[in-house]
Amino acid sequence: MESNIKIKLWGVRGSTPCANPENMRYGGNTSCIQISIPGMDELLIADCGTGFRNLGNELDSNGNSLMGRVFITHPHWDHLQGFPFFKPFYDPRNRFEVYMPPQDGIGCKEILQGHLSNTFFPVSIDMLESELDCITFEKEKLNFTNYTVEFMWANHTVPTAIFKFTIGESVIVFAPDNELPVNIDSDNKAFVDEFRAFVKGANVLIHDAQFTKEQHLERLGWGHSNWETVIELTKDLGIKRLCLSHHDPDHSDDTLDRINSKIASIKGTSYVEATVIQEGQELYLPN
Ligand SMILES: [Zn+2]
Ligand SMILES: [Zn+2]
Repeated sequence: MESNIKIKLWGVRGSTPCANPENMRYGGNTSCIQISIPGMDELLIADCGTGFRNLGNELDSNGNSLMGRVFITHPHWDHLQGFPFFKPFYDPRNRFEVYMPPQDGIGCKEILQGHLSNTFFPVSIDMLESELDCITFEKEKLNFTNYTVEFMWANHTVPTAIFKFTIGESVIVFAPDNELPVNIDSDNKAFVDEFRAFVKGANVLIHDAQFTKEQHLERLGWGHSNWETVIELTKDLGIKRLCLSHHDPDHSDDTLDRINSKIASIKGTSYVEATVIQEGQELYLPN
């Protein structure tokens, strides 16, 4: 049986958008998801990669005023590049709250102001017409009417959140950028224990799987995981649906298909489903 909570995947690519014919099926837009909760009018969005632009275009076309919360894992380009292209930010009837963890003492508003400074982009944050509250997300649990949000720190090259959204009994963990150690027995054990406890029993875990294990060995410390290790570390945790994401821009549809069929052949996991996810997919939460 499926609940009615829905996750729409607007961007599942990592590092940089890649609008190449060989990538179109899994999609070339970078990190952005939308969570819809039955009975909730407010928008709930995580990350503002280039997929955020398409989400904005769809919302813009329905003509109603909007209220929404946007949670940004970290300010790397592939998680922020869609920000100024989100049309609902240019409608004064709309109201948004944007949350981001601090970067070495620098808060959400300052980070976004830097991203939208004149050297890099013609529109500054003050030119956005919607009401926009930029909130620095310290490590705490935020309680809203329909859900709570908390995070643990990822293992990445800058301070980066792994978000946990709890909606009633349902849990969605969003970890687009997180390096799980290749040598799971000896490397970084305290982090691995914390990570496993944080994601245990989630209905959906969306996790970084940018590399194969072979590639990862050449790219240690780049801040991303390989799909084999993600499965090794989460297969016994009662996670219902594992969604592998943040695809390498050089991984074509054929490469991702091959990974997907290898995953399908793995036995002895506790997942109901484990797949490489595609842009445009709509996932309903398994109970
Ligand atoms: Zn990224
Ligand atoms: Zn990153």
